[in-house]
Amino acid sequence: MSEGLSFDTLLLHNKHKFDPATGGVSVPIQHASTYHQLSADNFGKYDYSRSLNPTREALEEIIAELEGGTRGFAFSSGMAAISTAFLLLSQGDHIVIAEDVYGGSFRMVTQVLTRFGIQHTFVDMTDIEAVEKAIQHNTTLLYVETPSNPLLKVTDIKAVSSLAKRHGAYTFVDNTFMTPFLQRPLDLGADLVLHSATKFLSGHSDTVAGLAVVKDEELANRLYSLQNSFGAVLGVQDAWLVMRGIKTLSVRMKQSQENAMKVASFLKEHSFVRKVYYPGLEEHPQHETHKSQASGPGAVLSFELQSEELLKKFIHYTQLPVFAVSLGAVESILSYPAKMSHAAMSETERAKRGISDSLLRLSVGIEGAGDLINDFRLALELSRNTSRIEEDVR
Ligand SMILES: *Cc1c(COP(=O)(O)O)cnc(C)c1O
Repeated sequence: MSEGLSFDTLLLHNKHKFDPATGGVSVPIQHASTYHQLSADNFGKYDYSRSLNPTREALEEIIAELEGGTRGFAFSSGMAAISTAFLLLSQGDHIVIAEDVYGGSFRMVTQVLTRFGIQHTFVDMTDIEAVEKAIQHNTTLLYVETPSNPLLKVTDIKAVSSLAKRHGAYTFVDNTFMTPFLQRPLDLGADLVLHSATKFLSGHSDTVAGLAVVKDEELANRLYSLQNSFGAVLGVQDAWLVMRGIKTLSVRMKQSQENAMKVASFLKEHSFVRKVYYPGLEEHPQHETHKSQASGPGAVLSFELQSEELLKKFIHYTQLPVFAVSLGAVESILSYPAKMSHAAMSETERAKRGISDSLLRLSVGIEGAGDLINDFRLALELSRNTSRIEEDVR
């Protein structure tokens, strides 16, 4: 039924639009862990909920369709999805991985996989020659996150995927920042797409979830086996929340993205802001690459203030965004990468990657853009005018 429908429509009008048993316009939450079988030689489709559960299955089918894949898999967190996908590798394999990946993925690769004899090389993935140089005889995976976290560097997915194919390696893409609304890595040649569904897909800061989607049947079977073996499956209540979030994905993304562009334009003109990182700005070094593979710049930007002292005051005075880890929610979220998402990285590693102590990341929500800009303008002004933070402001 999905042929020819727009993405916006597909979010609502898919196979799970209503429950075929009752007509209920919401996927039923099936709590059962086990399923009664009718006879000794005729088992039904479902037997145990770690292996297959109809509520989780609905979400898996929805995300597979939205990403243009054949099979989806839902996990208990983004890290569970990413870690399970890494289990497709074997001892002796080598990964080429983007240098400013999500802190949790960095930790998994550097602290866990190394203990199992899986090595890695970090590269600046915006430089395709550097990626090629980093490939070894035993490289089996090119791991991409684009735009990256927190510096919003853009990797050419098509170029990396074709390079990977030439070397007999897989390409995995963490598509958390874009969602399939803006970017569909499988269409660009990637083998596996990963999501922290905790972010834009759920969109309301109320669920922790992870998703993976593949196109190839053999890869799907291997990933299914790992999902079932490792067992980090998504619970049914959370699967339901992610499905509810997905229904409004396009309207939330459109509003957040429009706001993000306005906020980025405001920040880049402000004298207290040293630099703004946002793929929507023409001066972004990979602006054109991004435009060629995604239909919009998304709603996450980072900016560097003139000093760490100024940053601390700004965090203190700004009123609207929550100051927290995470991103991709209806409310704006301001985070401090050096102390939050990238705290797992040593100071030297952070410095090498340009993640300074005066860098903030902002995930722009669906508030009124004018209110956000006024809030930031005032916070910056107050930061300049006070030599020390006055505790009664908040
Ligand atoms: C949050 C995030 C993750 C990890 O997801 P969790 O749901 O927190 O486990 C992975 N990649 C990116 C880009 C993220 O933002």
